[in-house]
Amino acid sequence: METLLIACDFDGTITQRDTLHLIVEEYGTRGLWETIEPRLRSGEVTLEDAMQEEFATVRATPEEVVALVLRDAGIRPGLTDLVRWARAEGHRFIVFSSGFRTVIRAALEHWGLGDLEVVSHDALFTAQGCTLVWSDRGETCVECGRRCKRHDLRGRLRGERLVYIGDGISDRCGAGMADLVFARAHLARDLSAAGLPFVSFDDFVEVREALQDSRSRAA
Ligand SMILES: [Mg+2]
Ligand SMILES: [Zn+2]
Repeated sequence: METLLIACDFDGTITQRDTLHLIVEEYGTRGLWETIEPRLRSGEVTLEDAMQEEFATVRATPEEVVALVLRDAGIRPGLTDLVRWARAEGHRFIVFSSGFRTVIRAALEHWGLGDLEVVSHDALFTAQGCTLVWSDRGETCVECGRRCKRHDLRGRLRGERLVYIGDGISDRCGAGMADLVFARAHLARDLSAAGLPFVSFDDFVEVREALQDSRSRAA
């Protein structure tokens, strides 16, 4: 049977709320995101520039950041079952995020999913300021002109069918590589506008059911 690489975004996909926004609103300049987002969506600034600008204002220890995320981010229902199902079927499930390892690892461990593989950037949080630590994403992507998730996705694929699950701007290129896309929020609107196929979802129960159905139909 054909196996899957299930690539899943973190912020706004695994979590109900974007942890980057939570952190900036609580420990950085409140409302800054609203001024940056229009410039990001119009392509005036890159996601990386926007993140740099936002996090330059953040003053918090790693403990404060993690406590905030555990309190307010919220996990989207059905993830644990989806991961368990994927493993039982011999599929791989990997988190691909443009967010921060420190935050993601702590949240996944808290939710009993600490053994998931995570590919992401990182951030050094201190009471004096925050420094973003960018992971090596190789050459600039020819599709988006950024160092997007494509490089990491290519590096992890082992000839499996690629399933991509996401919600935002940082998911566009990954979704473009995938055989099957589950999308919500901005990503769903972008794919609709571009006339590209995807399955919309609100939680991971729906994702698992859709994957299970497509497996049983293929069998
Ligand atoms: Mg996201
Ligand atoms: Zn790209």
